[in-house]
Amino acid sequence: MNEARGGKSTAIFPADRAWDREGRGSPHVGVLVGGPDATAQHVEYLSLIFGLQMIGSILAVWWIFTHPTGWVEWSAFASGYVIINFGLSVGFHRYFSHRSFETGKVMRTILAVTGQMASIGSVINWSADHRRHHAFTNVPGDPYAPRVDGHGRPLKKGPWGFFMVHIGWLLDNTHTDLKVYGKGLADDPILVFVHRTRYFWAIFSIVLLPAGWALLFGGPEHVIGTVLIGGCLRTFIFANGVAFTNSLAHDYGYQNFPNKDGSANNWFVALLTFGDGWHNNHHDAPRVASNHVRWWEFDINGWTIHAMEKLGLAWNVQRRAKAKPVPVA
Ligand SMILES: [Zn+2]
Ligand SMILES: [Zn+2]
Repeated sequence: MNEARGGKSTAIFPADRAWDREGRGSPHVGVLVGGPDATAQHVEYLSLIFGLQMIGSILAVWWIFTHPTGWVEWSAFASGYVIINFGLSVGFHRYFSHRSFETGKVMRTILAVTGQMASIGSVINWSADHRRHHAFTNVPGDPYAPRVDGHGRPLKKGPWGFFMVHIGWLLDNTHTDLKVYGKGLADDPILVFVHRTRYFWAIFSIVLLPAGWALLFGGPEHVIGTVLIGGCLRTFIFANGVAFTNSLAHDYGYQNFPNKDGSANNWFVALLTFGDGWHNNHHDAPRVASNHVRWWEFDINGWTIHAMEKLGLAWNVQRRAKAKPVPVA
């Protein structure tokens, strides 16, 4: 976990950008540059996202076109997708980042573990990064924004800018100061445990679970295909769905609530993330449990939280004030 190391945090970006060239110091309150924690995140993202998930997905596509696949492989894909979406969208996003509802210790643990199974950052770092995204949306200080990179430098529209805001930001050397954004995260023993065991949950989700599924419902001949499709491809497509929330749903779509942060409602992202793509609705009221505003803006994650409330598994569920959306242009 990150700690402030050397140099003191400043409220503005230093004019000479010495922190940038030297790789030390802090450019912004809540932003740390370099150090072992940045390295640890690089190793994690390179091995799990760019390695296991991405390379495995390329192999999965090859496998799909060269081998027969059936319900064993694709049911592992579908059920695993539902599980990691629940953990990341309901857990990491709406619960751990925004506290849009309260829940008990068991459900808290389930949300942390199933979200960790998405393998796109630890529960602590993902949620702290996301809090920082809302604090500085699309201005210097935002870890992933279409207009600025992690160092606060302007990003131009185009393939490079798109890549940076989509997944390139994972590889810059800035990271979130947990002293500023880690309250209720870095001091929670359950989350510290899940953070420390994050590589295990990645292997469990991407390799062990699909392999077990294949052996249980198919046979040894289904193991490789199910790991590739139900493990690597499933987590990588979902990771891109989450990344599209930054890259697409901050530029492409419509706004119910006009604001300057550029957040947009994007149906394609909403489809991939079961409702998180209604991102303008979300930025308008980040703590609200449901993104549903207009009748077509289905929000399975919001419905899940309200179903949990009915079952007594969630309480203090945050609801939207009756603000009227503007007519869609
Ligand atoms: Zn956003
Ligand atoms: Zn959010």
